[in-house]
Amino acid sequence: MNKLFWLLQLMIHCTAYSQGIHKGSFVKGIYGNPERILEAGYAFDELGVNAVFVRRSSLNQEFYQQAKAQGCKVFVEFPTLNGKGYIEGHPEAWPINEKGEPAGPADWFMGVCPTDPGFQALREEQLRETLANYLVDGVFLDYLHWHAQFETDQPLLPETCFCDRCTRLFEKARVLQIPEKDISARAQWILANQESAWRDWRNGILNKWVSDMGKILTENQSDALLGAFYCAWFPEDHGGALYNTLGIDVPSLAERVDVLAPMLFHRMYARPVNWSGDYLDWLNNTIDSPEPLVWPIVQAHNKPGIVSPEEFGKALQAGSQPPASGIMMFSEQSLMENREKMKVMQDFYQRTKP
Ligand SMILES: [Zn+2]
Repeated sequence: MNKLFWLLQLMIHCTAYSQGIHKGSFVKGIYGNPERILEAGYAFDELGVNAVFVRRSSLNQEFYQQAKAQGCKVFVEFPTLNGKGYIEGHPEAWPINEKGEPAGPADWFMGVCPTDPGFQALREEQLRETLANYLVDGVFLDYLHWHAQFETDQPLLPETCFCDRCTRLFEKARVLQIPEKDISARAQWILANQESAWRDWRNGILNKWVSDMGKILTENQSDALLGAFYCAWFPEDHGGALYNTLGIDVPSLAERVDVLAPMLFHRMYARPVNWSGDYLDWLNNTIDSPEPLVWPIVQAHNKPGIVSPEEFGKALQAGSQPPASGIMMFSEQSLMENREKMKVMQDFYQRTKP
């Protein structure tokens, strides 16, 4: 990138800060492709929005500069372990189930084997490329879990990944020998004899992804925040699937990021809208306050069922309770489809503390 252009970004970035975005401001965000909101004639400052969480694929220079000029922080959503578009041409990265077969898609989501070196190299390169082109306020890791589907009231929770690479890495890490040869027999042996060590190892692999991505972020832009979108099930939900299947341990995640962004998708989890407050109470008791920051993402999206503007307003309210110091919604598309929701968000953001 041209040096002058970079300097221009730095100036815009600093001006936006001096215009009133201070450390400690309550973050009022929009997630998705927020450029569509501008294209529809709205302005972020008029909406009370002070942060955008933009998909990496939707980020462009023009939007970046417009968002900054309107006083917004720009955070980039980074699709960490989303394998779609990669595994089709790289069978060695396809997650393998306990039968030794390539795992099928989990509804619309297709994960990846997180130990595949080629895939990790690609993600590292993509993160470096984004950081070379944009001075960001932070990067938010998304799809941060082993292959599964949790954004539904009917979760899909396959057992993965038992590829040769994963089980050999597990053997090495735990200094043990699996006395079986074929993949399905090795998987059965692990689940029967070393299940708890296996779950711990899987969690360690996920944690390492967070640490590795965080290291790249710090090396390139030391002031930028590392955030994580993650499934906001309670640890005991769905037979402990948060840890056992997705590989997520919230305290371990909290140690590695600056911002936790629990996905408080009440309808997708078949919960009442005020459940978000219960989750935040639990989080408050689980992590050491005040670090990391907590900026939930709440559901405006009409699936399953319909989230009315009134219900969306309640979701914003419930999701902003302590320890939250920011909030955003899934997603800009829901606001565009129902302008009453846009108004609800605007009213909420304008009356929420600066
Ligand atoms: Zn694997």
